[in-house]
Amino acid sequence: MCSRCPCFVILKIYSVSAVLRKKTLSLMAITKHSLSVPEPRPETLIYPPLLSIISYPSSLKSRRFFIHPFKKSFRLFLITGIFTIILAGSCASASRNIIIEDETINKDITTGDVSDIKDVITLDDDKTDDSNKTEEKDSIYPVPTAFVALTFDDGPSYQTHKLLDVLKEHNIRATFFVSGVNMVKTDDILVSANQRKIDEGHEFANHAFYHYSWGNGNFSYDSMKRDFQRCQDEIIRVTGKSTPFFRAPNLIRNHVMTRVLRDLEMFDIIGYSLDDWRPNVTTRTLIDIMTRKHIAVDGQIFILHDHGRNNVINAIPQIAHILRERGIDFMTLSELAKHRGIDLNSDFGKLYGYF
Ligand SMILES: [Zn+2]
Repeated sequence: MCSRCPCFVILKIYSVSAVLRKKTLSLMAITKHSLSVPEPRPETLIYPPLLSIISYPSSLKSRRFFIHPFKKSFRLFLITGIFTIILAGSCASASRNIIIEDETINKDITTGDVSDIKDVITLDDDKTDDSNKTEEKDSIYPVPTAFVALTFDDGPSYQTHKLLDVLKEHNIRATFFVSGVNMVKTDDILVSANQRKIDEGHEFANHAFYHYSWGNGNFSYDSMKRDFQRCQDEIIRVTGKSTPFFRAPNLIRNHVMTRVLRDLEMFDIIGYSLDDWRPNVTTRTLIDIMTRKHIAVDGQIFILHDHGRNNVINAIPQIAHILRERGIDFMTLSELAKHRGIDLNSDFGKLYGYF
C-alpha cells in the first residue's frame, strides 16, 4: 500500500484515535466515581469515534461533567470519512461513465440499432483512410469460402459514378435496385452510369417505377402490377433482359404484392438494412455492422443506397478488406442465388431476407 494512498492515511488516523481512546479509558477508569462518567460499552474499543456518537445521548444528563474524550479524533475521523466518501463517489461515478459508454457501444452493436451511436463513434466521413488501401494492396487474401451481396437502391443517381468508381477500384460487383422513374431520365450522367453498370458486371433489379409505399394497403393489384412491370420494361430496355428480383420501396410489403410478384415471376428480396441514408450512420458504423461475424455470413444481402453518400463510399474499401481477409467475397444477387442453390425458376413471390 502506498503511503500517499488516502486509505493508508485514514488507517493511520484511525489507529492513533484508537490509542488515544484506550489511554483515555484508563484515565476514566481511575476518575469515573468522581466525574460520574458512564461505563463505556465494549464496542467502543473497536469503533471509538463512531460509538461515541451512539453513546453520547445517554450521557447528556451528566453533560456538564462530561468532556468527550474523543472530540479531536472524532472531528478528524469525520473529516477523513467525508473526504473518503467524496473520493469513492467520484471514482465510482467515473468508472460508471466508462461502463455506460461501453454498454452503449455493445448495445448498439448487438441490436443493430444505430440511432444513438453517433456520439460514441466519431470518424470523419469526409476523410478517406489511405492506410487501408495500402494494406489491401499488400495483402494476399485467402481463397473465398463465403459470399455476400451488396445491393444499392433508388438509382441511378447523379452520384452513381462515384459509387461505381469505388466498386471498380476494389473489384466488387454489386446489384442495383433501380427506380423506374430514374431509369427514364435521359441525362448523360445517368445514361452513362447505367452503361457502366453493364460494362463493369453489375446487375440490375426492380425497385418499382414510382417509389411509393406500395405495400401499405392503399394500392390495388392492378396498379401495383402495372408499376412493377413498367420498371421491368425499363430494365429490359437498358440491359436487354428482365430481372427476377424485386425490392419493395421503403421495404413495405403486403399479400397483394406477393400475388403481383408471383404473377410477374419475381422474388421479394429484402436483406440486412443498414439505414445508410440516415445522417447519424457513419462510415465507422457501416464498417462495424457489416463486418460482424454473425452478420457477414455466406448468403447475406446488404441493403445500401445509391445516393453517393460519403459514409457508404468510404466504408466499402475497408469492408472489402476486412471480409476478404476472412475469406468472404462479393457476388451479384444472381450469382449468390446460384452459389446458395436457390432455384430461380419456381416459388415466385417468395420472400428472401438472405440466400
Ligand atoms: Zn428505395
